[in-house]
Amino acid sequence: MILIAIDHAHGSPRRGAYELVSAARELGGEVAAVVLGGPEAAPVADALAAYVPSVVHVDDASLDHASHERRTTALASVAADLGVDVVLLGAGRSGQAVGPRLALRLGGALLEDVAAVRRDGPAVVAERLAYLSRASLTVRAEVAPVVVSVKPGAYPVAAPADAPGSVASRSVAFGAADDVARLGERRSAARGRVALEEADVVVCGGRGLGDAASFERLVVGLADELGAGVASTRAVVDAGWRPYDEQVGQTGKSVAPKLYFALGVSGAVQHLSGMNRSGTVVAVNKDGDAPIFKVADYGIVGDLHEVLPALRSALAGLD
Ligand SMILES: Cc1cc2nc3c(=O)[nH]c(=O)nc-3n(C[C@H](O)[C@H](O)[C@H](O)COP(=O)(O)OP(=O)(O)OC[C@H]3O[C@@H](n4cnc5c(N)ncnc54)[C@H](O)[C@@H]3O)c2cc1C
Repeated sequence: MILIAIDHAHGSPRRGAYELVSAARELGGEVAAVVLGGPEAAPVADALAAYVPSVVHVDDASLDHASHERRTTALASVAADLGVDVVLLGAGRSGQAVGPRLALRLGGALLEDVAAVRRDGPAVVAERLAYLSRASLTVRAEVAPVVVSVKPGAYPVAAPADAPGSVASRSVAFGAADDVARLGERRSAARGRVALEEADVVVCGGRGLGDAASFERLVVGLADELGAGVASTRAVVDAGWRPYDEQVGQTGKSVAPKLYFALGVSGAVQHLSGMNRSGTVVAVNKDGDAPIFKVADYGIVGDLHEVLPALRSALAGLD
């Protein structure tokens, strides 16, 4: 059986949850999903039941903003009870932290940050991208269970199942070891804007914006008009113009939106590795030889301060 660990926010599954459903269906076999959290997570479990035959809701408010240890204990308990051979989770920050803990706890194998996963007889085989996505590695786990963390955007969002599934609530017993770390204050970085990893459209600004005020006016302004996520390069984060949670690239986030605007971004390989699975890439740069144009579907050579206002007024004229 495959168990999908569901990421959710504000009472809804995150997009990655539906991508994991696609991965599970491709793998083949019985599928269940597990949702952690108190009453706010109940609608998440109900929503998932339209996609998978069986959903387990670990109904415990202490899991709402829990430490990685607590979440690991809850997932391990459900996985052991169901006798699963594969656990799928998203390779975001939480998945990267929980995945290794869970594999260790279950005495199984770990396939991390994979772009594709399949069965080969009793083995589970996955593709990992390496060297800034220029190479692909095939990794194979021959022991069960296997914990697999899947790259955001690697699979399409699943369609609902033909027949609805069922939801069962249960509890989990925690011990002192689950509280070695506690989550302190939690601040939302999204500020009401669509989360970067979830966004269909991402507007990314680079050092070419010149300063923080221009970034706010031109990049954030365009993103707000489009209902898009805001991203930045490391140069922008290092300059203190934007927070680290917006950084895309090798040492930042990986995103795979349908549309990616790269504005005043040179296109360094470390940046490209975080956005090269985007659908359509639109680049604006005053240097016609900038490497970003090699990956752009549409390129505008020009000064951002002239091109962006023109682009925004053209967009404003569209319905
Ligand atoms: C180990 C390591 C990890 C790294 N990880 C990351 C990472 O995760 N993410 C990341 O982004 N980078 C990362 N970097 C840094 C990366 O190498 C680049 O330095 C960085 O991406 C450059 O950011 P940029 O494109 O904003 O700036 P620049 O390279 O300075 O490019 C600015 C661009 O703006 C254009 N421009 C300037 N003014 C205008 C204007 N008025 N109108 C239009 N265009 C204009 C310029 O022509 C230029 O192409 C990493 C580097 C290392 C060594």
